[in-house]
Amino acid sequence: MNRYSKIENKTKREIVLLKAKPCKWGKCTFCDYIDDNEINEEKINRINRDVLSNVTGEFGILEVIDSASVFDLPLETLEMIKNVVEEKNIKRLFFEAHWIYRNRLDEIRDYFKIPITFKTGIESFDNDFREKVLRKGANFTDYREVKKYFDSPCVMVGIKGQTKEMIDRDMEIIKNFSHATVNIFENNSTDIKRDEELVKWFVEKYRYLEDDPKVDILFEITDFGVGELD
Ligand code: SF4
Repeated sequence: MNRYSKIENKTKREIVLLKAKPCKWGKCTFCDYIDDNEINEEKINRINRDVLSNVTGEFGILEVIDSASVFDLPLETLEMIKNVVEEKNIKRLFFEAHWIYRNRLDEIRDYFKIPITFKTGIESFDNDFREKVLRKGANFTDYREVKKYFDSPCVMVGIKGQTKEMIDRDMEIIKNFSHATVNIFENNSTDIKRDEELVKWFVEKYRYLEDDPKVDILFEITDFGVGELD
């Protein structure tokens, strides 16, 4: 498992994939990343200390992801991140949090005292698909509710059951945010399956997003350089 990388295009930054306690939501039907979650805090902190030791601060921006939410990291790990921010002169952080934490984001902002880009997994702005198929547990009905709390939605494309119309609408909606991440779904150990035809259509139609500085597009889940690389 590779847990440290650099994103060298668009918003240049270092990225770490830390270990977290079990994802508080943990019910998304497409997710098997929670297999990386761990209950032993000592082990979590040991691994995270090692991963964070790679950070050099060369871009002044650090993204922290953890197969859960930033709130699912142990306090000791948060302290380690804060030390890295201070020692390596980090000026901006990217974190992820699930919708259930939307009213607690200021706790993290107050703790780190530097600008934070909050990402959140929305996967689809189609309310039925998101909640009934993906069981995302983000019970908003209008994207403006998301925008009230979060800076950057992560959306997923190419899943069986998703339609071109849903994806076209999602690509329109993400233009309203300062940043967004688009993931092309890859089959994993869950029952949710990739729709190859839909992926082919999407890649042809939306390849230009590769040049959009506001959008990170991941053709493969490991395109940020962290995770299980081949
Ligand atoms: S919130 Fe994220 S980590 Fe938790 S189950 Fe859903 S996709 Fe997986």
